[in-house]
Amino acid sequence: MGSVVISLDAELGWGFHDRDPVPADRIRSARTAWRDLCRLFDRFDVPATWAVVGHLLLADCDAEHPGHPAGPRCCDGAPGAMAADEAWHGRDLVERVLAADADHDLAGHGFTHVHFDHDLMRREFAAAELRAWGATAAAVDVSPGSFVFPLNRVGYRDLLVEHGFDAYRGRQPSRRGRVRKLSDALRACGTPPLVSPSVDEYGLVNVPASAYLFGFDGYVRSAVEAVRGDPVVDRVERALAALDERGGVLHLWFHPHDLVRERDFERVRRVVEAVARARATTDVRVETMAAVADRVRERHGEVSAAAR
Ligand SMILES: [Zn+2]
Ligand SMILES: [Zn+2]
Repeated sequence: MGSVVISLDAELGWGFHDRDPVPADRIRSARTAWRDLCRLFDRFDVPATWAVVGHLLLADCDAEHPGHPAGPRCCDGAPGAMAADEAWHGRDLVERVLAADADHDLAGHGFTHVHFDHDLMRREFAAAELRAWGATAAAVDVSPGSFVFPLNRVGYRDLLVEHGFDAYRGRQPSRRGRVRKLSDALRACGTPPLVSPSVDEYGLVNVPASAYLFGFDGYVRSAVEAVRGDPVVDRVERALAALDERGGVLHLWFHPHDLVRERDFERVRRVVEAVARARATTDVRVETMAAVADRVRERHGEVSAAAR
């Protein structure tokens, strides 16, 4: 029986802390998209894994953020005409996820989104990122479970275990680099890979990504769409058919800030609708990363017990 997992990397300004200027328009559209997505998932009763940057959960912040690549008191910065609060805080949005009818999973995504392979990243900094995430999530009654590494840079997995996390999103199986040319885009219209979650050497469940829903864009996207409709939706439809036949996991991911134009939202709407249709008409189910991790760990325990 196959499963679909949808994960979102929700970070507002923190996703752009290394950009100058921080793009206020992307953050503004991310805030709108966040609420629209909650409504969409509720409408189709599709639970997702929301990987949220911990700082967003703070009502206010008096931390110095020592050693942060964006500088001390980086959360004082007001990008464009936007209030600093709107860029670096978002407790109202996280609470909307927790109050949703769909049974979402709230996952860690670092405290300030410094990736674990950054030049300035140190073991103590990584530990502080994980510890602070746990402390802020506790304020909304959430315990550490699933984790999505900022920029998908997997590292310090032993620290994940130490801070109570038990699953993470691994890198998608690589078949090609980033698609830049139209010819590559057309060739890339194959089916996203179905993945097999596994228990790693730290006892963490790795739920690898299958596909980033906004992986190729810009003029290539316009050209392809003009000829054959949104190829990403087609690819997901094909993957859902393969999932029903072969089993495994189809793990799709994106960011709320990817939804800038109406057609971006339309893509996600059609994907969620296709997933709900597959669930209604085939044996395909929809799971969060946490649900997959529980299932895989249980199975792993049975296999290990049988081998003893
Ligand atoms: Zn702060
Ligand atoms: Zn991120």
